[in-house]
Amino acid sequence: NRRFVLAERPRGVPDDNTLRLKTVDIPEPGAGQMLLRNVYLSLDPYMRGRMSDAPSYAEPVNLGEVMVGGTVAKVVRSDVDGFAPGDWVSAFGGWQDYALSDGAGVINMGKSPENPSWALGVLGMPGLTAWSGLTQIGQPEAGETVVVAGASGPVGATVGQIGKILGCHVVGIAGGPEKCAHVTETLGFDACIDYKAERFPDALKAAVPDGIDIYFENVGGAVFDAVMPCLNTLARIPVCGLISQYNATSLPKGPDRLSLLMGMILRKRMTLRGFIVFDDFGHLYPDFARQMGDWVKQGRIHYREEMIDGLERAPEAFVGLLEGRAFGKRVIRLDA
Ligand code: NDP
Repeated sequence: NRRFVLAERPRGVPDDNTLRLKTVDIPEPGAGQMLLRNVYLSLDPYMRGRMSDAPSYAEPVNLGEVMVGGTVAKVVRSDVDGFAPGDWVSAFGGWQDYALSDGAGVINMGKSPENPSWALGVLGMPGLTAWSGLTQIGQPEAGETVVVAGASGPVGATVGQIGKILGCHVVGIAGGPEKCAHVTETLGFDACIDYKAERFPDALKAAVPDGIDIYFENVGGAVFDAVMPCLNTLARIPVCGLISQYNATSLPKGPDRLSLLMGMILRKRMTLRGFIVFDDFGHLYPDFARQMGDWVKQGRIHYREEMIDGLERAPEAFVGLLEGRAFGKRVIRLDA
């Protein structure tokens, strides 16, 4: 039973000292517990926050403890009602081969689910994030313009495709021509702007002739600077993530633009609302699961996954995710 424990809190980008691979005995499930064999481990940007003890919405992982993470697993032994050996589950088993669970927060996916790993992406937490942030905070109406950053990632790709289903003009922002081509050609966005290309702010402006009604914020930093001047009166901004800042050790360079932003919020009567998916919208999960399940089955939502084999590759794959090397949802396949 291999597991990654948090060995040291990173400053800036996590490095070789951040996580340590340990081998321990397979745990024995007690009364009211089950033993899970993790098969897929989700890599998600929020994990960077759990490595840090800076104030956040959730407790950090303690030093020496297993790194947390969403998993899709198979039940090995069970003393929990509703879970039997051989069942596939979506759980929160962490960066390890085996996990114990009392069933809290665990979803039983049955004996032979189609695409079990999708429960870590479009049909799970990132999908719920996209759907709930866009519909509950963005409140899109047909004909409005939606812009989403991180457009090729699991959250952004889903936001834009839902926007198209709801009749919006959808523009993505992503890094590089390959990701942008995927966003328009495969995901069906109306346009995608490469934020790494020269004159990115001009290209964005040209792609939103009617301005931006909804900006779904996933990245922050220079991308938000370019979005700001295009925002319309009564714009809604679901603030979902700020990935460009997660490894930062100081505030971004340049003049302080806070009073500019506050002035815009006032004059344009804009709504910025941050959200934490399960705290704010967890109760909507059944509605989401029904709706997204239908869309995926009907082929109306496309999903791209990047499968990486071997638990030992998780730390490097995680740093790559933070640095823009992921193309689609990054999942670690454990050699179960
Ligand atoms: P992604 O796979 O989209 O995140 C990785 C991508 O972020 C990279 O591929 C890269 O895309 C982009 N990125 C990285 N650094 C930068 C940068 N400096 N500037 C611009 N883009 C950058 O992750 P998810 O879809 O899982 O998550 C998207 C966002 O949503 C994250 O910020 C995450 O923290 C947040 N989130 C929030 C939740 C909540 O409850 N509030 C729940 C789930 C996710 P590219 O190559 O295009 O630059």
